[in-house]
Amino acid sequence: MVKEEILLVKDLHTYFESPGGTKRAIQNISLSLSKKQVLGIIGESGSGKTTIGLSIMRLIGSDGRIEKGVIHLGQRDILSVPEAEMRAIRGKDISMTFENSSSILNPSNSIGDQIREIIGIHTNLTYKESNELTLQSLNDIGIQNARNVMEMQPRQLSAGACQKVMLVMSTILQPKVLITDEITRNLDIITQAQISDHFRRRISKTDISTLLLTNDPGILAQLADTVIVIYKGRKLEQAPIQEIFKRPMHPYTFQLLRPMENRKLKTMRSESIDESVDPDICPLVAKCQRAISKCRASEMPNETEIETGHQVACYNPISVPID
Ligand code: SF4
Repeated sequence: MVKEEILLVKDLHTYFESPGGTKRAIQNISLSLSKKQVLGIIGESGSGKTTIGLSIMRLIGSDGRIEKGVIHLGQRDILSVPEAEMRAIRGKDISMTFENSSSILNPSNSIGDQIREIIGIHTNLTYKESNELTLQSLNDIGIQNARNVMEMQPRQLSAGACQKVMLVMSTILQPKVLITDEITRNLDIITQAQISDHFRRRISKTDISTLLLTNDPGILAQLADTVIVIYKGRKLEQAPIQEIFKRPMHPYTFQLLRPMENRKLKTMRSESIDESVDPDICPLVAKCQRAISKCRASEMPNETEIETGHQVACYNPISVPID
């Protein structure tokens, strides 16, 4: 059966200007998200995950620009719609949750007001109907005493409860695409489990498609169908979830997802990378133990499909399956 493509990102380049010059935050990122799919994007802090999400939302700020690329939501070209139309798309058709939800929620409005406001902007529901929907959604995600919480302000809630509220706000209208940025980071284990469980139930009951941005392989393994590995704004590998854990082919993926087996290897984590390396070649070349002369003499390798659904951008990928 042909899967219905909901979101297409092709050849995305997002740059930022700073006093030090132009920073190429995202280079040549392509992805396709189908109906109900959970596509995980994993990378370290600073790898560009959040910038991908903000580019899709068209919220990269005045110092950034989408230099090149295509973003389509269904048939709609997101990069060319007027800002007024984009405001209507955000929250209804595409929504995004952020890691630091306590600081993103409006500190002066009650939780109930903030959720009802989103419903009011995008639907014709009455106050009573939106109130009931808000209460039901807060109950569904496991907020205790939800009716009281609706009257509270964000500062009266824990970080975990704020994260749940943010997830309710971003899914209550059942958007076509949900982008979650570090959905469970810095939360206690119980809250993490509740949020993961709610997320799974919500996704299974609706047609929402999700981009799951994370640096946590555990969350990825629990929730994603397919995984993209990125590093310094570049896409290194993409594969179905079981395949990428069983048979990571890019040397960086191998270190990222199977760290216990790699303690003797030189680390390829970003803080150890030589920033003076030519930005057009593979950014890992100075530390990669599989580097060959072609890696130093050629531009960043293109993605090659090794088998259906498994692509890797490397001149000397790992070819042995791992049991
Ligand atoms: S392209 Fe070369 S340097 Fe880059 S990860 Fe692959 S083997 Fe290593």
